[in-house]
Amino acid sequence: MAQILDGKKVTAILREELNQQIAALKEKGTKPKLAVLLVGEDPASVAYARFLEKVSENAGVCFELHQLPANASELYVKLKIEDLNNEPSVHGILIMMPLPSHINKQRVMEAVSPLKDVDGLHPFNRGHLISGGVCLQPATPMSCLEIMKRSGISLAGKHMVIVGRGETVGKPLVFMALAEHATVTVCHTRTKDLAHLTRQADILVSAVGKPGLITADMVKPGAVVVDAGISEVDGQITGDVDFERVKEVAGAITPVPGGVGSLTTVLMLKNLIKGIHLQEKARQWEEAENLC
Ligand code: NAP
Repeated sequence: MAQILDGKKVTAILREELNQQIAALKEKGTKPKLAVLLVGEDPASVAYARFLEKVSENAGVCFELHQLPANASELYVKLKIEDLNNEPSVHGILIMMPLPSHINKQRVMEAVSPLKDVDGLHPFNRGHLISGGVCLQPATPMSCLEIMKRSGISLAGKHMVIVGRGETVGKPLVFMALAEHATVTVCHTRTKDLAHLTRQADILVSAVGKPGLITADMVKPGAVVVDAGISEVDGQITGDVDFERVKEVAGAITPVPGGVGSLTTVLMLKNLIKGIHLQEKARQWEEAENLC
């Protein structure tokens, strides 16, 4: 039977590291602050904002919720973001999705300062992710890699097959896995004979959102199976993988819930800390330029 990769255990280790990083910053007089921008009253977003507030405060991070009415114009939202970009005490900005339909998501994401973009969605960060530069990376693909790394699973030389090429998980994961020296194959709805490809994976990652998509006959015996999918079935959270049957074939597997999803919030807060260091570097760079 497969080793169960326990997301909660890995999260506890990451949280400890985060606490140390925050303590070190506080000693130097910096108290990290996260600003969350919520447009409208989408119930899932309101619930997630409340959850974030609790997690942030437990970690010693100041939390600010900026809630705008659902009919706020795109210009108004962008001006609000500009204020947060210019506020030195705010170190990270998170835009809650979905935005109301009259607001262009891409333009709003591009309005966030790349060094405060804790979601790692800004084209500046996406570009550096592809070219291998220093940047803020999206939390969910980071979670997929961290849960393996912290469980002693190396990617170098392995064939990773990723099912899903979405902007938040599958696509950024391609470049992050390449940076870890995996050989990567990406599958999507137009892929012919998905099972033929998944059976070749040493590491199979599913990032689709279709319960039961990955069945036991699609998995090579001993492979590592990472399930990033999230769906709700009869009020229960479930992943893409037929966990009960696949765990009899795989060498290691992440459960849902309790796997990849457990790590994402703490990794987003680690992005906040990384952003603080990048903002400090940018300030030093600007000061040096002003002296020349
Ligand atoms: P997305 O943008 O909707 O992308 C889904 C991808 O799956 C698309 O590339 C799509 O292919 C592919 N796909 C759909 N049906 C398929 C099939 N039958 N065979 C092969 N590929 C198929 O989704 P996303 O934002 O990347 O998120 C993916 C999953 O991760 C969702 O379940 C989401 O809820 C979950 N998620 C989890 C977390 C977390 O914290 N754990 C965070 C974010 C997202 P095409 O491109 O051809 O349409």
